[in-house]
Amino acid sequence: MGDTYLPWHHGIEDVAKHFDTNVEEGLRGIEAQRRLTEHGANVLSAKKQISALEIFIRQFKSLIVLLLIAAGAVAFAFGEIIDGSAIVAVIVLNAAIGFFTEIRAVRSMEALNKLSDVTSRVIRDDSLSEIPAESLVPGDLTTVEGGDVVSADMRLVFASKLQVDESALTGESLPVEKQAEAISESSVLAERSNMMFKGTKIQRGSGVAIVAATGMDTELGAISSLVAEAGDESTPLEERLKELGNRLIWVTLGIAAIVAASGIISGRDLLIMIETAIALAIAAIPEGLPIVATIALARGMLKMAKKNALINHLAAVETLGAVDVICTDKTGTLTENRMSTQELYTQEGRVDVSGTAPLEGVKDSALAAIRVGVLCNNASMETGDPMEIALLSIGGRAGIERNSLVDVLPEVGEEAFDSETKMMATWHERDSDFLVAVKGAPESVIGACTATKDGDEIIELTDGLKSEWIKKNKALAERGLRVLAFASKIEAAISTQPYNDLMFLGFVTFLDPPREDVKPAIRGCRAAGVRVIMITGDQGPTARTIAREIGLGAGDIQSVGGRDWKEPDTLSDSERSRVLGAVVFSRFSPRQKMDLIDMHQKAGSNVAMTGDGVNDAPALKKANIGIAMGLRGTQVAREAADMVLKDDAFATIVSAIRQGRIIFNNIRSFIVYLLSCNISEILVLAIASFMKIPLPLLPLQILFLNLVTDIFPALALGVGDGDASVMRHPPRNPKESIVTGRQWKSVLIFSVLISLSVLGSLAIALRVLHLEGNDAITISFLTLAFAQLWHVMNMRSRKSRLFWNEVVRNRFVWMALVLCVALLLAAVYLPGISSVLRLSDPDLTGWLTVIGMSLVPVVVGQILIKLGISPSD
Ligand code: ADP
Ligand code: MG
Repeated sequence: MGDTYLPWHHGIEDVAKHFDTNVEEGLRGIEAQRRLTEHGANVLSAKKQISALEIFIRQFKSLIVLLLIAAGAVAFAFGEIIDGSAIVAVIVLNAAIGFFTEIRAVRSMEALNKLSDVTSRVIRDDSLSEIPAESLVPGDLTTVEGGDVVSADMRLVFASKLQVDESALTGESLPVEKQAEAISESSVLAERSNMMFKGTKIQRGSGVAIVAATGMDTELGAISSLVAEAGDESTPLEERLKELGNRLIWVTLGIAAIVAASGIISGRDLLIMIETAIALAIAAIPEGLPIVATIALARGMLKMAKKNALINHLAAVETLGAVDVICTDKTGTLTENRMSTQELYTQEGRVDVSGTAPLEGVKDSALAAIRVGVLCNNASMETGDPMEIALLSIGGRAGIERNSLVDVLPEVGEEAFDSETKMMATWHERDSDFLVAVKGAPESVIGACTATKDGDEIIELTDGLKSEWIKKNKALAERGLRVLAFASKIEAAISTQPYNDLMFLGFVTFLDPPREDVKPAIRGCRAAGVRVIMITGDQGPTARTIAREIGLGAGDIQSVGGRDWKEPDTLSDSERSRVLGAVVFSRFSPRQKMDLIDMHQKAGSNVAMTGDGVNDAPALKKANIGIAMGLRGTQVAREAADMVLKDDAFATIVSAIRQGRIIFNNIRSFIVYLLSCNISEILVLAIASFMKIPLPLLPLQILFLNLVTDIFPALALGVGDGDASVMRHPPRNPKESIVTGRQWKSVLIFSVLISLSVLGSLAIALRVLHLEGNDAITISFLTLAFAQLWHVMNMRSRKSRLFWNEVVRNRFVWMALVLCVALLLAAVYLPGISSVLRLSDPDLTGWLTVIGMSLVPVVVGQILIKLGISPSD
């Protein structure tokens, strides 16, 4: 396969020969396997896997390590071999912890990238199957249809009304028509009407094509190799954390310098003061923040994936937690999309079409309606739109099979269902003319009719009859039924206008019951301060009845119809607030969805919006969280979305929002936890160095606290499961920073509390227990260490319960506590470590002091939380 072969210039047979494939049976499976190894996977510049070695090396490129090396150098310079070696050990330990944390984050991100893979339909070994788009190879025979994203460059073999949006590649915003004939070899990209290119979107129609190029060999690949390494974008949250970190570094360096200077001036040991300053600096550098945040986000994404919500990018997790308006489709999301047929109405009367029994003695006028329902239909008995499947099954029960019907009345044209006109039509060839079969929304169809069939007689559809039918429709819709109307006409030729001069044939009604889990989910949203808005193409009365059934409102439901929709700019204030307050939008088109999102966003809301069709894509992009349907949705919608619902269920949206909130709270919790631990260390040393008392902590002890014992409770907080209370209060303000003023205040209060306990226990050790030197410092060090551990219990929400809350129930917190207590006991009782850390063995009174004083912050903390001063929210 030379690279100069121009597939658009050659006939189909030639192309098939060139790619050594068969336009009926496709490639053989084994051959496809072989080509996959030859050409590689069909992916763009496969983001290279970050190797473990790279991650390891990265651990040594940090400010902390530089500071540690400086500290080690100082120690060795002063001849403190033990201290120096201990610092080397700390460097290694720090790198190890960093390495394992980061490798977990990176690997779970990679696992996530694999989740959202797209699939392609290929014909191999003469049978159609769905495979991951990654494994397409040149020569593969694929089928495409409206809503697909093209996953490789291909040469069309067959095209039916195919229109492709190639704007991603050519910048041309209008869809282009495609066909299968060979064209001139000099055609430029935009003119290659028999080719489809990777990354472009099929608007409508269908086709069969031979894959000509995959992966980086595609036109899109050529472009993306130029752009290259769009790289790992970090989320706004991670950005903010970095910023916070940078600010803290400078503040701490300042404080460390002041502490060191004042210590040296007041005649303290020079070495100790330099080491203390370095240790303090290390204490406060929140190096771990972004990485723990990434872990928390990624873990949350995996959890959501298990609950059927696939998130397309990390940042969405954060936004999800702040969603306060959900605009959701009705059919299939709030309802089951089961569509059981109920009754058929014609001018002659009513036919019960519920159940599954054969329909006998059906009158001709009803049969005419059923026939149109079967003809004007894209489903097969197994797959397709549930409503259309239901129509086929009525046909089957009345003895009308689609296959035998189209033998007599071959389908020669189709006007696809359009969510703007709310109608669909098909053209069928007869001996000398054509039958047009139309189905659609009642008002639309009735509006296009001029006659109707009363028995064998054809009568005029007078205004009187029309309004009778409209009234009937309204009554049916008010029962929550979906109503579909049928019409037909005979034309001499295929024209472009199927929707006029039609003969009205009747209505059929469908019952589409609400999903069972929707009602509780909506109740949950209400408690969580999230408004739910139903948007549907269905008519107002149907939508309002369903809305009442699922608890979106009671009595008079505030609703807006798409037909009365006005440009948002032209609305008066009262009209605007009516729109903003409405919970049901009926006969709504995708275009109007955009306007609605915009209005809510301008009113300060964070909007989640569901969608499934090609023309929903702009709205999905515009919404803060675009949600596509995994079952019903098109690939185009899925690509535009931030989240894909594998089960299409509304309840899944709510559980994703819950998860989003939990993750945000967790990230906030561990940040605040780390901040209060670090600030308490700084305070203890700063206060002590200004007073004429021994420093309550030695440099290596500070390192031990920060690089060993603080980390585990923080990590545990980062992966907590949250509390029922997360969905009992309104969403946070999306603009709110992660550590708010409120939180800084409580962080300070808690840090002061911890510092005071530590200084208090030092005072007891010196004055009451009459300990000296390192014996006394052992008591203050242990008090701080345990106080920080217990402090994790303060990291609960103000709204959660005292003894049974999200922290108590987090098993990782208990694991961290057990581990850290063990580490501290080892530090005291293992001879090697205790001599490096200068810890002595406290007696019973010593331990009682440690335990007693270290419990002060957590006991007083509960009172503060009761008073509304909680660090975590
Ligand atoms: P929803 O938001 O409930 O999915 P749709 O936009 O799919 O609403 O449909 C709106 C209305 O259009 C339906 O109530 C029905 O009357 C009509 N309709 C839906 N699908 C079809 C179709 N395939 N052919 C003809 N009419 C349809
Ligand atoms: Mg629909």
